[in-house]
Amino acid sequence: MSVLVFAENWDGNFKKSTFESVAYAAGLAQAAGGSVTAVVIGNVSADNLSSLGTYGATKVVHYDGADVNHQGVASIVAQAVQAAGAKYVVFNGTWKSKGAAPRLAIKLNAAIATEVVELPSSTAPFTVKKKTFSGKAFAHVELSSDVKIIVLSTNSYGVKENAVTAAVEKGSGSATEKDNSLQHVEYQKTSGKINLTEAELVVSAGRGMKGPENWGMVEQLAEALGAATACSKPVADIGWRPHHEHVGQTGIAVAPNLYIAIGISGAIQHLAGISSSKKIVVINTDPEAPFFKAADYGIVGDALQVVPKLTEAIKKLKG
Ligand SMILES: Cc1cc2nc3c(=O)[nH]c(=O)nc-3n(C[C@H](O)[C@H](O)[C@H](O)COP(=O)(O)OP(=O)(O)OC[C@H]3O[C@@H](n4cnc5c(N)ncnc54)[C@H](O)[C@@H]3O)c2cc1C
Repeated sequence: MSVLVFAENWDGNFKKSTFESVAYAAGLAQAAGGSVTAVVIGNVSADNLSSLGTYGATKVVHYDGADVNHQGVASIVAQAVQAAGAKYVVFNGTWKSKGAAPRLAIKLNAAIATEVVELPSSTAPFTVKKKTFSGKAFAHVELSSDVKIIVLSTNSYGVKENAVTAAVEKGSGSATEKDNSLQHVEYQKTSGKINLTEAELVVSAGRGMKGPENWGMVEQLAEALGAATACSKPVADIGWRPHHEHVGQTGIAVAPNLYIAIGISGAIQHLAGISSSKKIVVINTDPEAPFFKAADYGIVGDALQVVPKLTEAIKKLKG
C-alpha cells in the first residue's frame, strides 16, 4: 500500500513546504504501513526529482504539464492514486494544493482533513489533529473513507530527513481539456527577498506606522535581522504595502520562529494567520492592545521611536 504525496514545484524547484509534506508522508507510511510515492507535475530536473528521496520518497512519478491548474492537478493525482492503489494522499498547505485537494476528494469520494498538524494519533480508526476556527482551537477528526486525504498545515510537522533512494518514473496520464475550463491568465510574482510563507523571521507592521513614508524603518529592522516583511490587511487595502504581504485569515498564514508585530492591534482575523509563530514580540503604544495577550514579549511605546533603536541594537549585537 502506498502513501501518495503531491510534491508541488515552483518553476522546477521544490520549497521547504514540499519537503515537509514528503517527510510527513514518510511518517504516515511508517505509522500505517507502506511506502511513499511522490507525484510531480511539470518541468523538473532529474536531480530535483530524486532529491525527494532525502525526505523518504521511495518512488517519484513525474507527469508532464507545467501549467496545470487545480482541476488538472486533481485529475492527474486521481490517476496516480488509482495506478498506485494508494489509500492516503498528502498535500501541503499551499495555494495550488489547497485548490486541488478538495477537488480530488470529490473525484474519489474521499474524506479530507485540512490544516492537519500532526501524524495520526491512531490509524484504525484513522484519527488526526487539525486546526479549526482559524487556528483558535484544535479538532481530532476521524476519516473513515477508503482513500483518505490530508492537507498539512505548513510548518507544523517540520522538514525531517529520512534518506532513501528514490526511483523516478514517467507517469502516464495528463489533465484533460475539461480540466482546463479554469485558466489562470496571469501570475504576478512576489518581489520580496525572503519568501514570507517560508520565513523563519518576520517583521510585520500595521496602521500604527501612520503612513507608507515610515516603512523604511520596518524594512531596515527586517534587513538587520534577515527577516521577511509583512503587514496587516488595512495597510495592504489602502496601498501602503503590496497585497502579497498581507497576513491573516484572509491573507497569508505564517509560522516563523519570531514574529515582530509593530503598530498592529491584534484583531482576531490577524491573529488567525500568525498563531503558529514560535515567539511573538509586540510593539504598541496602547498597553490594552489585544495583541499583547498573544505576545511572548511586549514593548509599550511609539514604534517610530522604538523601531530605529531596536535596529541599532541588533546591528551592534551582530557586530
Ligand atoms: C472578514 C474580515 C477579514 C479580515 N481579515 C484580516 C486579515 O487577514 N488580516 C488582518 O490584518 N486584518 C484582517 N481584518 C481586519 C481586522 O479586523 C483589523 O481591522 C485589522 O487587522 C487592523 O489592522 P491594524 O492593527 O493595522 O490597524 P488598527 O486596528 O488601526 O490598529 C493600529 C494599532 O497601532 C497602534 N498604534 C498607533 N500608533 C502607534 C505608534 N506610533 N506606535 C505603535 N503602535 C501604534 C494602535 O494602538 C493600534 O493597536 C479582517 C476583517 C474582517 C471583517
